[in-house]
Amino acid sequence: MELDEMEALRYADLLGFHQEEAAAKMGVSRATFGRILEQAHRKVAAALVEGKALEIKTEGGNMMVVPKRTFVCYDCGHSWQVPYGAPRPGCCPACSSRNLHRSPEERGGRGLGRMGWGRCRWSRQVSSQGSEEGKESK
Ligand SMILES: [Zn+2]
Repeated sequence: MELDEMEALRYADLLGFHQEEAAAKMGVSRATFGRILEQAHRKVAAALVEGKALEIKTEGGNMMVVPKRTFVCYDCGHSWQVPYGAPRPGCCPACSSRNLHRSPEERGGRGLGRMGWGRCRWSRQVSSQGSEEGKESK
């Protein structure tokens, strides 16, 4: 991914600028901005769908890779990736289980020190209709 694509994403998606504003910030025309943004979206989508790390070209022309962490649900076997730096998922997106683990290949033997699952906000939301779960906090 090119640096300007990254910028475009940042302005449009992260900061919520209108394309006109964002284009002005980047010093390009609105049409150009739209094209850059579209390309950026395509690359991000491809990275997500194919589970690839995004490669970002920095000014020096070398690559910076956004590392990802892989999580595996031990209940349903679902595995998915979260960009490094994003919060650890509270529960499985597929089945809301809290029985999640970092993918063993990625976890460089750092031990299970703070794997305590605690309360899972997501699964509380998901299962709030029929939850036995909210009750057992005592
Ligand atoms: Zn699951």
